[in-house]
Amino acid sequence: MGSFETNTRDGDGEARSGRIRTPSGSVETPAFFPVLDFIGGTTVKSGGIWSRVRNRLFGSPKFNGAMYQALSFLNFGLTPDNLDDWREHTLREHFTNHDPPKDWHPQPESFTEPLFIDSGGYRLMQSDTFQVGRGEDVSNDWGIGTTPESVLELQRDFGADIIATLDFPIPEDLRDSEKDERLERSIQSALDTIELLNEDHGDVNTKGWDPTVYVAIHGHNYEEIDWYIGEVLNRVSDPSLIDGFAIGSLVPLRSNIATLVDIVQGAVNAIPEEYRDQFGLHVFGVSGKLFGLMSLLGVDSFDSTTYVQTARNRNFIDPDSWKQTSFVDVSSDSWTCNCEACAELDIDAMRTVMQSDTSYQSIAETKYLKSDFYALMAHHNFLVYEREVEKVRHAIKEGSLLSHVIKLSENNADLRKGLQRAQMRDPELRDDIPKVAFSVDVDPEPLIRDQDSEEPVENSMGTTSLKHTPDDYNVLDRSHEPDAAPVLLVIPCSQTKPYSESKSHQVVESGLDELDDGVYSKLTVSGLYGPVPESDEHLDPITQYDYALNSVDDEQRELVISRLTSYLQEYGNRYDKVIGYVTSKQYRIVFEEAFTNAGVGIILPSNPQRLQLWEMYRDENIGELQDTIEEALCEPTNK
Ligand SMILES: [Zn+2]
Repeated sequence: MGSFETNTRDGDGEARSGRIRTPSGSVETPAFFPVLDFIGGTTVKSGGIWSRVRNRLFGSPKFNGAMYQALSFLNFGLTPDNLDDWREHTLREHFTNHDPPKDWHPQPESFTEPLFIDSGGYRLMQSDTFQVGRGEDVSNDWGIGTTPESVLELQRDFGADIIATLDFPIPEDLRDSEKDERLERSIQSALDTIELLNEDHGDVNTKGWDPTVYVAIHGHNYEEIDWYIGEVLNRVSDPSLIDGFAIGSLVPLRSNIATLVDIVQGAVNAIPEEYRDQFGLHVFGVSGKLFGLMSLLGVDSFDSTTYVQTARNRNFIDPDSWKQTSFVDVSSDSWTCNCEACAELDIDAMRTVMQSDTSYQSIAETKYLKSDFYALMAHHNFLVYEREVEKVRHAIKEGSLLSHVIKLSENNADLRKGLQRAQMRDPELRDDIPKVAFSVDVDPEPLIRDQDSEEPVENSMGTTSLKHTPDDYNVLDRSHEPDAAPVLLVIPCSQTKPYSESKSHQVVESGLDELDDGVYSKLTVSGLYGPVPESDEHLDPITQYDYALNSVDDEQRELVISRLTSYLQEYGNRYDKVIGYVTSKQYRIVFEEAFTNAGVGIILPSNPQRLQLWEMYRDENIGELQDTIEEALCEPTNK
């Protein structure tokens, strides 16, 4: 293990270049892993389009590795016996000196590049056949169960170089109780997988197999993914057994670019600085247009089926505009792509074959099948993606990735939204972009506007990010009667609104649920407005803003310190004790200064292991908070 390494990290934002080391060689990052269906039937010739796409990619100098979706063989009508035959040898062995799909095809190149295999968790979960409880034996004909052992054995038999741990994706509309259960199951599976591979006492017969391990992670917003990574790092026996994290559950969200940005930033910020260079970050199912933006946020690798799906729809991706171009619109005058696929494109033959009624039979005079052209389109589309990821790698080394993304975003509203969202949290991106303004500015002049409306773009809540300023809410200007309670608990705001529905506020609340009701009153410190009592959480300005304190906006930090100081001076003495509970760095600075200025209260955790949002959830820290509140109740009052 210890298979990810960072080479340069001095580019824009969180972008970096690096390398994933695997048993089958290294992959330069940022990297694109095209999804490939290796098993398209009973033999290496099976799979129609896939059989041809595989061989095209194996022979391409641009091909650096593939993603195989572990359960995708279920799409091809295999029997359990067929699968057993496949499992006799690794996929690499099957695709070494293998036969071409048709006799007249040239001998294909062997598959030699690194192979990334996911867990198939989504497919396993959807099927009753594979349901097996933890510790139960597998009883179905496939010999596959929804357990870390079973998935790991499948990944081993297929010869994975990089694996993702067994996970259970969370659709957006899942009930909270079911969601929590799935998240816990995914976390436990990751921990089990790591221990099974642990060479000291692992249970899976690894036959010398030593894959690079990516822990699958999930969350629907900034705080959830942060919490998830915190759970994994707090519970794993040794973090160095992890090579990277792979973000799942994003496919349904990919139309919501702001949420995608939040989740990736949440993941990157949740990784402690001491581990940042040694953990790779992969995102599942993100297509080529987003490579630059995602790399800017700190993502190292991607996989996608879009290049094949687009080809199945008979479309080429235009290398310049990224527009999908139907094969009927490709003519020798208009189509100037000179990629290795298009170099062998016979446009007349393509039209004849693709427009003929013959679906399966070879057309005698050309010896082409439709699937030959679908595969050629997929090959071309793959190269468009690969060319983009190469540009991204180059731009990172040149220190010009941000300009590259800004240029791409000129023709792409999604990218503009995404970049704007990213700027909210990443001070570096703001510094680098001249004249850009944020929610704290009185007269916003955003660089990136939606061209149609000339209005600031909308965020995920359907409200504008730039709508609110600190003047929109100030508790000190309101007639305010604090809740009567022995203890005032002061905690930082959350990205999720209302605050009480956020992961961070919910974990603290449930961590304190042994305390009697009414023992403490909660005061949230907003990065935009300063103190917000619980009774005001549902006001529009409080539910609609998006802003988090950072190391750059000094004036904003001073404003929050000043308001919090005044609040504590005015109301602090009404409580037996004022307790600040804060683990993220920027908020801790604010709390410490305001508490000192006001001369009240204490700040917990008294000795956090690191200043990181998820440090809030550590049992010792929650325990210390609870003990301190209980002690306050026993002490003689200071009124
Ligand atoms: Zn081409």
